[in-house]
Amino acid sequence: MEDINSLLRENIRNLVPYSSARDEYKGEEAIFLDANENPYNSPFNRYPDPLQMKLKKRIASIKGVPVERIFLGNGSDEAIDLLFRAFCEPGRDNAVSIKPTYGMYKVCADINHVGYRESLLTEDFQVNTRHLLSLADQQSKLVFICTPNNPTSNILSLEDILYLVENFDGLVIVDEAYMDFSGGPSMIGNLQQYNNLVILQTFSKAWGMAGIRLGMAFADPMVIKTMNRIKYPYNVNILTQRTALDNLQDLTYRDFWVNQILEQRSYLQQQLENMPGVKKIFHSDANFLMVRFDDPRRVFQYLMDQKIIVRDRSKVPLCEGCLRITVGTPAENAALLGALKQMSK
Ligand SMILES: *Cc1c(COP(=O)(O)O)cnc(C)c1O
Repeated sequence: MEDINSLLRENIRNLVPYSSARDEYKGEEAIFLDANENPYNSPFNRYPDPLQMKLKKRIASIKGVPVERIFLGNGSDEAIDLLFRAFCEPGRDNAVSIKPTYGMYKVCADINHVGYRESLLTEDFQVNTRHLLSLADQQSKLVFICTPNNPTSNILSLEDILYLVENFDGLVIVDEAYMDFSGGPSMIGNLQQYNNLVILQTFSKAWGMAGIRLGMAFADPMVIKTMNRIKYPYNVNILTQRTALDNLQDLTYRDFWVNQILEQRSYLQQQLENMPGVKKIFHSDANFLMVRFDDPRRVFQYLMDQKIIVRDRSKVPLCEGCLRITVGTPAENAALLGALKQMSK
């Protein structure tokens, strides 16, 4: 794309952002009398680094992406919302996405009073790129793609996504929340080539840190700069920044967890295949299985009675009759299988 700036809402392009005390003086080791903080109760008395530089440098080295291409937010959900607020004029602009997919894209569109157009996936859960692009018009600013897709659990064709990036006159946001479970390459490697590509990743899944709320966006430095200009000044608190840095010291945990989950995913898959009442288990590239049952409501309720909670996706287009089951620990998965066996007796 020639000019990302021309895609921005006019008020955002002209915005003078809030300048915090910590923006104006960035050094360490000083007497801080600039932010009206309480001088006692260290370290919680101090405002966090608004741009999370220490954490970003660590992430930059893990991901092989320069700091200027990294945004950190209060979950990936913050990044999704900021993209709407930066690029979509309420009541006028729209975003285009696939269906079925992650529910937050539509909710954020609705909250921001931005149009939301959905292109149904094909029967094998791939993007109908021609159809999706035919939904776009002059007012379409964002395209949301999720791969591996939630709830269908499969990787979408890289070729198709690149086709969208090359042929859509706006930003293409690729949500890679589950990429660590897929073995597939992240599209981070394509960022240099495409200034309209935005990649979302999260610490909520493979990294096991959903509770600290930390999401990443990788994009052209212009896009990252804009997101930083409009976010809350201190959007990632010090507890989150510290905990993330601690957990990023040793990457072997993540690798161990991912391997364990993948092993359990294939075990669950294999065990469910022989279960009466199971119609179909869809191929998964994520940490969950989409399973079609003869009587999903009854299975859902039975499991609920056993205090085993799965997600009912049986009314979702293309997922009719399906429950979405997250891969748990070996003990949790055994409890699930035990309950299903008991039920079919
Ligand atoms: C779980 C999930 C996320 C993670 O969102 P956070 O706000 O980072 O916890 C993002 N995208 C998809 C598709 C997800 O399923």
